[in-house]
Amino acid sequence: MADYDYDLFVIGAGSGGVRAARVSAAHGARVAVAEEHKVGGTCVIRGCVPKKLLVYGAHFAEDLADARRFGWDVPECRFDWPVLRDNVLAEVARLEGIYTETLERQEVEVLKERATVTGPHDVLLGSGRKITARVILVATGATPVVPDFPGAGHGITSNDAFHLEALPKRIVIAGAGYIANEFAGIFHEFGSHVTLVNRSDVILRGYDETIRDRLLTISIMKGIDFKFHVAFKSIAKNEDGSLRVEMDGCDPIEADAVMFAIGRRPNTDGLGLDSAGVQLDDKGAVVVDADNKSACDSIYAVGDVTNRVQLTPVAIREGQAFADTIFGNKPTRVDYENIPSAVFSHPPLAGVGMTESQARNKLGTIKTFTSDFRPMKNVLAGRNERALYKLIVNSETDEVVGIHMIGPDAPEILQAAAIAVKAKLKKSQFDEVVALHPTMAEELVLMK
Ligand code: FAD
Ligand code: NDP
Repeated sequence: MADYDYDLFVIGAGSGGVRAARVSAAHGARVAVAEEHKVGGTCVIRGCVPKKLLVYGAHFAEDLADARRFGWDVPECRFDWPVLRDNVLAEVARLEGIYTETLERQEVEVLKERATVTGPHDVLLGSGRKITARVILVATGATPVVPDFPGAGHGITSNDAFHLEALPKRIVIAGAGYIANEFAGIFHEFGSHVTLVNRSDVILRGYDETIRDRLLTISIMKGIDFKFHVAFKSIAKNEDGSLRVEMDGCDPIEADAVMFAIGRRPNTDGLGLDSAGVQLDDKGAVVVDADNKSACDSIYAVGDVTNRVQLTPVAIREGQAFADTIFGNKPTRVDYENIPSAVFSHPPLAGVGMTESQARNKLGTIKTFTSDFRPMKNVLAGRNERALYKLIVNSETDEVVGIHMIGPDAPEILQAAAIAVKAKLKKSQFDEVVALHPTMAEELVLMK
């Protein structure tokens, strides 16, 4: 058998790569991981974690206002962006340290440099060092798409949003998916005027229609502007440093920042995968089989770079399945059915299983149950924001095939409810559960 420097070389220390490296080492493999930016990857460094901390920070705007209705004497409050930004970045640095330590404790060698593939078992580091490995795992994630039009370079992406010197008074956000809606809420709560611009009139494609409509209605009510069926033409910098955004389908907009949130492209550019015969799809994603193996027998890929489901828990599961299968003698495949997901907008929304239209198309006969209510806390706060919960039930089997909700804490509630959908529980079994009163979640067992 050929003698390699490592049993496994992982490119990218993000959600998928860290899990795969750590578990493979625990199974006894000699492992190294290369990371060109920061250990932890998108989720920890410039994704889920700092984003969620900003969402918490933003929500205080409403909490402080509502507190007055609950008897608290809240003086005029001022938000200090640099304080939150620096605290969030310090927390991210702490987590980066913890992730590095976890890898090193498992005796994974962490190489803080870029790596490229030069053959089926060969890797070249930025420093010029050549490495051989029995197996290479590509876990390089994805990167924000920046469109190509005059002045697009004046725009920022979510990567930059965590480092802004100052909050923009007016921001245009391109896109209407996860990142656009989450950051629309964040910037709006901090006091920026937000205009969300999208090429279609659909927000959050893939989520249940009525839940998306409710977010749109509430967002408009809060003061977020939406421009649909619009295409960017140019961005020009004015003398005072502000930006003039010209578009087809909409009047020009003056703004202080433009943020692109129009999807994320797999990180395979210049990675050298062609040198090993690895096949990419038309979006540049590594094509893999159900065991995460690419067209090259010694090269595997997990996470966003495969463009299957771009979510952290999925990348982690794929990394775990890879490690257990290849180094743990325990063949494991990820089950992609009924993956819960959430959008941390204001208010947040979450869903699992089939949407109403998906269920109608697939099952034909379905029953839907909805609860459209004003949460008790919103009533006292005088906040006219209604929550909406929806169950989709297969009429023939009585199985609950989808749960979708928008309202306070919807992601927290849905994580627990997703167990019932995954376990294929029936509507009658939901009905058997006694309500836990007074909660919002009790609506799940009270829908008639
Ligand atoms: P990544 O975590 O992106 O890791 C890839 C790593 O590879 C990076 O650190 C990169 O620097 C490194 N790398 C790339 N090329 C090379 C190279 N050639 N050499 C060395 N290193 C390299 N998901 C959720 O589930 N919930 C959320 O709330 C959520 N919020 C998000 C918010 C934002 C703003 C963004 C952008 C994403 C969010 N996501 C969320 C998605 C989530 O972050 C990704 O799905 C997840 O990080 C993918 O993990 P990964 O291991 O595939 O890639
Ligand atoms: P999304 O795929 O969620 O949304 C992309 C948006 O951009 C859509 O509104 C889409 O419009 C539009 N769009 C796509 N391509 C173009 C284009 N070429 N020109 C103009 N508009 C375009 O992408 P995001 O960037 O918001 O997020 C990337 C991924 O990161 C998500 O898919 C998700 O997997 C992950 N993520 C997860 C989060 C979470 O779990 N809470 C939070 C943040 C990110 P249309 O629909 O009309 O095609």
